[in-house]
Amino acid sequence: MSASAAMVNTQEIGAEVIRALNNMNIPPKPEYYQVWFSHLESSNDALSTDIQSKINNEGEVDEFFLKAVHEQYFELAHPPKQIEHFAAEVLNETNTLQRLSKVFDTNTKQFTSDLADASQNAADISNSDGNTTKLLNSLVDIAQNAISRNNKLENDLSNASQKIDKLQSSIESITQDAKTDFLTKLNNRRYFDSTITQLIAAALTEKTPLCMIVADIDHFKAFNDKWGHPVGDQVLKLVADVLQENVKGQDLLARYGGEEFALALPNTSLKDAVTVADNIRVAVSKRKLINRANNQSLGRVSMSFGVAQLREDWPVDVLYKAADTALYDAKESGRDRVVCWTDTDADA
Ligand code: GH3
Ligand code: MG
Ligand code: MG
Repeated sequence: MSASAAMVNTQEIGAEVIRALNNMNIPPKPEYYQVWFSHLESSNDALSTDIQSKINNEGEVDEFFLKAVHEQYFELAHPPKQIEHFAAEVLNETNTLQRLSKVFDTNTKQFTSDLADASQNAADISNSDGNTTKLLNSLVDIAQNAISRNNKLENDLSNASQKIDKLQSSIESITQDAKTDFLTKLNNRRYFDSTITQLIAAALTEKTPLCMIVADIDHFKAFNDKWGHPVGDQVLKLVADVLQENVKGQDLLARYGGEEFALALPNTSLKDAVTVADNIRVAVSKRKLINRANNQSLGRVSMSFGVAQLREDWPVDVLYKAADTALYDAKESGRDRVVCWTDTDADA
């Protein structure tokens, strides 16, 4: 395709994206634009498949779905650029430190050789008063020069290490942000996906059971529609707190998508994982929800859970899919329940 044909095509797709977002009542924010553009341009098969299956299952997509797709395909795939930037700065400062420590070395050598010269002079001179004064003066000069060189050096060193400390803490907070979900402060999907592979490898090597729970709030769209998204956000935080209260040690918990959470339990049998899931289910369903702004009662929410235990020949996506299939069964069979993946699911 020629450059101008590509340009026309890009413009046409852009116009089509705006039309489509408008028809779906979705504001044309850059991230939604980017998702729909990739979809119409067919530049990412996995993204288009996700969108197509959402439309097939539910007839439409909403803002939250596009936000999640954007996060998965554009944000999570590219860790924040700032980390690279800060890492380069740290390297820079480390080089400065290295250079300064070489100067320090040269200074010390210089000082030692000045002293050696002075003591050679001392050996050469006679004992007359004038020569002794000369010798003392030259020793004082040498010492003062060395002191002022070293003072400057100490200053430079302390500035450089303060800068490194600051950069280090910027890197730590960006790294923390990169693995944290902004709303609930739980781990995000990126962190979960990167860590679960290690848990799976350890479980297979140590021959210990590993279970995964996928949990999803029931009828949350209706809840949002009734009370508004800011209130929905408060509920997501509350659910995150309940989940957090029910994990321990090596357990890996994350907000996996909009109102969906994933929990990996190393060294845990299927029976125990079901107990954990059911404890969370009961704890969430017991919470009376109150709108903090006006003390209005919001009723309660329930959650559904799918649980699966890792099998030896399962890669990570199969473990997730198994738990997700069980979650689907929990939804289909009435919600507010815990369902385990079974072999019959595999046959379905
Ligand atoms: P189901 O019981 O089948 O899970 O029904 P559902 O309505 O919970 O599921 P659906 O996937 O149709 O809708 C998910 C809803 O979750 C859509 C959106 O309103 C809500 N949601 C997703 N992310 C957020 C968020 O960050 N904040 C708020 N307030 N709501 C969110
Ligand atoms: Mg839901
Ligand atoms: Mg969901």
